[in-house]
Amino acid sequence: MQGLMMNVPLVITDIMRHAERCHAGTEVVSFTVDNPRHRTTLGEVFRRSRKLANALTRAGMGLGDRVGTLAWNDYRHLELYYGVSCMGAVLHTVNPRLFPEQVAYIINHAGDRLLFVDPLILPLVEKLKPALSSVEQVIVLTDDAHLPASAIDGLRSYESFIAGEPEEFDWPDLDENTASSLCYTSGTTGNPKGVLFSHRSTVLHNYAALVGDAFGCTRRDTILVVVPMFHANAWGLPYAGPTVGTRMVFPGPKMGDGATLATLIAEEGITLASGVPTVWQLLLNHAREAGVRLEPLRKVSVGGSACPLAVMEEFRERHGVEVLHAWGMTEMSPVGTLNTFPWGFENWPKAEQDALRVKQGQPAFGVQVKIVDDAGHELPWDGRTAGIVKVRGPWVCSDYYKLGHPSESHAEPGWFATGDVATMDPDGVMQITDRAKDVIKSGGEWISSIDLENVACGHPKVLQAAVIGIRHPKWDERPLLVVVPRAGEAPTREEVLGWLQGRIANWWMPDDVVFVDSLPLTATGKISKLELRKRFTGYVLPTA
Ligand code: AMP
Repeated sequence: MQGLMMNVPLVITDIMRHAERCHAGTEVVSFTVDNPRHRTTLGEVFRRSRKLANALTRAGMGLGDRVGTLAWNDYRHLELYYGVSCMGAVLHTVNPRLFPEQVAYIINHAGDRLLFVDPLILPLVEKLKPALSSVEQVIVLTDDAHLPASAIDGLRSYESFIAGEPEEFDWPDLDENTASSLCYTSGTTGNPKGVLFSHRSTVLHNYAALVGDAFGCTRRDTILVVVPMFHANAWGLPYAGPTVGTRMVFPGPKMGDGATLATLIAEEGITLASGVPTVWQLLLNHAREAGVRLEPLRKVSVGGSACPLAVMEEFRERHGVEVLHAWGMTEMSPVGTLNTFPWGFENWPKAEQDALRVKQGQPAFGVQVKIVDDAGHELPWDGRTAGIVKVRGPWVCSDYYKLGHPSESHAEPGWFATGDVATMDPDGVMQITDRAKDVIKSGGEWISSIDLENVACGHPKVLQAAVIGIRHPKWDERPLLVVVPRAGEAPTREEVLGWLQGRIANWWMPDDVVFVDSLPLTATGKISKLELRKRFTGYVLPTA
């Protein structure tokens, strides 16, 4: 027997309609090049999204056409999120921090016909333009008064593009499986791969992102969206905020600037924020040096790479801020697991609390997880056995966009191999030990670089730490610890190794420690192990 419930399509357009009805007056604040504190409302954003949809139609865009953005987090990008997807076209958010050749590759691969570009990113597009085969028009996210002079043919401002367009637009009734947005992941080898989200996957992910133990946005919160809108749809926050009427603050090009973030937190009354650990290290550093308390911030969501315990402790102890440690990836829209604490956690011994805090948490409802060995056999959830993480669910990608060959990650039907290695506790709490390609293989055993980094970051003189495997004649690989000291500190090799003693298994002890001024970052702001390994190619360990 079939249930007797309505089959209403799950479309982003309904998030917009709901928000317009219920939260039209909710404020949206942005830092842009032409205005460091632009203020608007959700109602105004959606009014302009309709003008945009009319302008896009006039420019010949229709169902399935790709519209590219090279833009920071701000209200115009939010208008594009809704205007493009809800008219049936595909919003392709391009990461401007990728290598220029990669930017050109993915714009061509996606076949973007229009490109919306932040003024600060225009020089990159000017350089690449001759190589962009599908782009018909470049539109700069500014007004005519601020439109930079440029050699690009037909260049125009966003404000002139939408000016004079009707404020009404008849949004099409879309099938819920219609593609809504596209985001490429920068693999460490080969070309970037496209993840094509649908209206349905986005709406279902939105429910998961909104539960209290996830990002937990409410109508009484103000969220600072630090995670870029070109990185996995800013973790779904541009949908979650309008759904419940959370006030949103977008830091524009200042997302990596600790001082600006601290100012926004204080002056805009930020209560929630989301981003990768390296951003929070910069913010905490600024707050420590400037002697400020991050008020009224109450909760920070951290993901993208493992969050060091020291970062969580500093947030909690100095600022009274709760940290949500989450794991996910672009291919998962991105939410996969969320680390939350059970009843009675407050009374656990500190060591046990810390051991749970550093884990990545339990699967969000909607995501199924398993760990497997190299032969694909499922491994036990015993908290000790590490295996490759595979996932499935309605917001997990089923294939890559126009890959041109079968996707290795989808070799097992119905499952996606994430490339991460983890253990699972009996109650489903996952702990990532490494990316499969970052695992250090010493004498046939695996050493977790993430665990080592976490402990090293706890040393009071250490700001950041990264561990990579270095060739070793006897053990195959041994760990090298690379450390960025805190400002004004000069820890010694012995001090750091002494700190690790007793806190890690003896055979995990790094064979050497190297001090550097900074660590290389990827285009999404994570520590780049690939770059670091290149930097230390040929390094000879003292034990070799
Ligand atoms: P991206 O698609 O760029 O967001 O990268 C996804 C990858 O980031 C995952 O496959 C993990 O390797 C890593 N990652 C994300 N969140 C975490 C986390 N909380 N701890 C450890 N690694 C993470």
